[in-house]
Amino acid sequence: MFGIGMTSARARERLVKKLASQDLATTEVLDIMNEVPRHVFVDEAIAHRAYDDTVLPIGFQQTISQPTVVAMMSSAAASVENRSRILEIGTGCGYQTAILSRLFDEVYTIERIESLQLRARRTLANLEISNVTFKFADGHDGWPEHSPFNAVLGTASAEEVPAALSDQVALHGQLIMPVNDPLYVGQSLIQWECTSTGFVKRDLCGVRFVPMLKGVEATP
Ligand code: SAH
Repeated sequence: MFGIGMTSARARERLVKKLASQDLATTEVLDIMNEVPRHVFVDEAIAHRAYDDTVLPIGFQQTISQPTVVAMMSSAAASVENRSRILEIGTGCGYQTAILSRLFDEVYTIERIESLQLRARRTLANLEISNVTFKFADGHDGWPEHSPFNAVLGTASAEEVPAALSDQVALHGQLIMPVNDPLYVGQSLIQWECTSTGFVKRDLCGVRFVPMLKGVEATP
């Protein structure tokens, strides 16, 4: 056990050093990524690859996001001036959620696959993370009861930003999510800032996420 822990801490440090050299994330986010174990979010059989900068399967045809992308999205989200609350669409295994829990006072996260949501809940409880509220639902509607959010972060790609999500962003807040880019066959990670005169859009980079799907998949 001790051996595995040491190996993963070293591997994690190597990964974070590599991310730091790419200059796409804040030191605060990199420090958090250096502390949150990624290997506990994936199946034991592939845990040895948890510190490669790559997506990995988490079951149900879904993937844990690439560390580079998590670093970039978390840094973008954390750039808001008020970090009271964030809404995440697509909990998946909960790794991105765990990073956000260290950046925001309250994290609200929605997942449409019940089994993934239950597993993420357990993993975060084991890590003693207690400022995350989970919901098993279709994230297209957001979570109006807890809005507005200082940041809304989507980890699945939509044709366009669902109106309910942009409606739930607080003034001076941000919405960050991948959208399908009609100009080329791919997706762009976009950052929308909510200003007093409307949303200001920025394209961050080309990305590849799983699609944002409608409806839910309950555990039988
Ligand atoms: N950040 C997660 C990413 C998982 S992949 C991680 O690193 O584990 C994207 C996730 O979005 C999947 O778990 C998928 O089931 C979920 N998803 C897709 N469409 C959704 C929707 N409409 N509402 C909520 N979650 C959705």
